[in-house]
Amino acid sequence: MNLINKYVQLICIVLFIAVSAVFLSSSIGISSIFPSFEKDTTKTKIVDGNLTESPASVPATEPFPSDSTAVDKASTEKITMDVAPDIQGTIGKNNTVYGKLISCGLSPTQILNLTQAFNKTFDFRAAAPDDRFQIFLAGNNQLKKFIYSPDPLREYVAERNETGGFTVSRHDLIPEKKIEAMEISLESSLSQAILNGGEKQRLVDQFVNIFSWDIDFFLFPRKGDRITVLYEKYFKDDTFIKYGDILAAKYAGENGTFSSFFFDGGYYDEQGHPLRKMFLRLPLKFGVKTSDYSIRRFHPVKKKYKRHNGIDYGAKMGTTIFATANGKVIFSGWKGGYGKTIVLQHPNGYQTYYAHCSKLIAKKGQFVDQGETIAKVGMTGIVTGPHVHYEVRIKGKPVNPSTIKNFKGTPLSPQKLEKFRATVQSRLLLVEEKTRLNSKEEKLVLADTPE
Ligand SMILES: [Zn+2]
Repeated sequence: MNLINKYVQLICIVLFIAVSAVFLSSSIGISSIFPSFEKDTTKTKIVDGNLTESPASVPATEPFPSDSTAVDKASTEKITMDVAPDIQGTIGKNNTVYGKLISCGLSPTQILNLTQAFNKTFDFRAAAPDDRFQIFLAGNNQLKKFIYSPDPLREYVAERNETGGFTVSRHDLIPEKKIEAMEISLESSLSQAILNGGEKQRLVDQFVNIFSWDIDFFLFPRKGDRITVLYEKYFKDDTFIKYGDILAAKYAGENGTFSSFFFDGGYYDEQGHPLRKMFLRLPLKFGVKTSDYSIRRFHPVKKKYKRHNGIDYGAKMGTTIFATANGKVIFSGWKGGYGKTIVLQHPNGYQTYYAHCSKLIAKKGQFVDQGETIAKVGMTGIVTGPHVHYEVRIKGKPVNPSTIKNFKGTPLSPQKLEKFRATVQSRLLLVEEKTRLNSKEEKLVLADTPE
């Protein structure tokens, strides 16, 4: 009996010691005792070798870590301090990675080892002034870890291995996606309205692209016209990275109202008809209509009345000209007074002409897609200034490009239409909710302003 009691006592003591040891090690953090045990706990996606985009299946709402050395929120402050870099910065102008690291106090041998390790995944010769780096040193001032970020969503991490060299791995960071909405009135131009709303030109371009089959943004907008747009924005640590898709957009103006919803990889109007049509309205993005289609016009160079078979769009030399519809290049070369010209053959007997170009990109016999770059604006042939003469012919006969019948694509199938209608409803609700939130924020700001 006595023996059993002793035995139980012994077990209790052993258990107590074991529990205490576990408790002690977890409370002070094992990694602070053994720094080499530190595990990279970032929520980054690790990709070896080649370029890969973050997969769409990754939850877009997952916030991304402040940097590759950030640790789990649950970890202690102590650990966070342990993994802060010893030196960090950007490469800077007129500098090389080598020069920068020398100035940080690394030895040429260490840098050479590092460069060799990096060569397989990232070439330091491609370094840019804004590229960021972080240096982590061991006690003896030897490089332990090196992080190189050529852009906010990409990091290369070099860690010293057992052989004394470095192992480099690529980490692609997942940006945080936010959905925002904007409802705004036009004062001067579409561009100005969106920029005034705090967004960038890139969003203006996306908006213009969506409606490029229906709206001529040189002529159409009027003061007081309203635009609504629901769009995705990507951030890393509250820093804007890029725009995602425009999910819904509306243009309500004096000249008409157009809606569009992103669905199944394309844009559809509220009834589910695709916005994509056979012809784009214009062969370029930025330019001004300088001369309209007319059967009798005074020619500025020939000084006599002559019919004008197309529309002229004045634009800067070198502006990109694109195919207004899918087709085959049947002519690419010099065509008398038209100068350097491209002619495309489209279905249903349609042809389009792009004249006075400075450079021809599409070659005869080539098939081009709608929106594909085919030439650059110039002033070859009989002209007074740089512009593109855009002409549409049906079976060889010139027609007015702005009044041609524009064939629509096939609408959604009944099954898809049902899903589409639900999408439209949820997007409209989201726009309403977001824009109401925006105006509430504005009111709050106003209320804070002293009288
Ligand atoms: Zn012309």
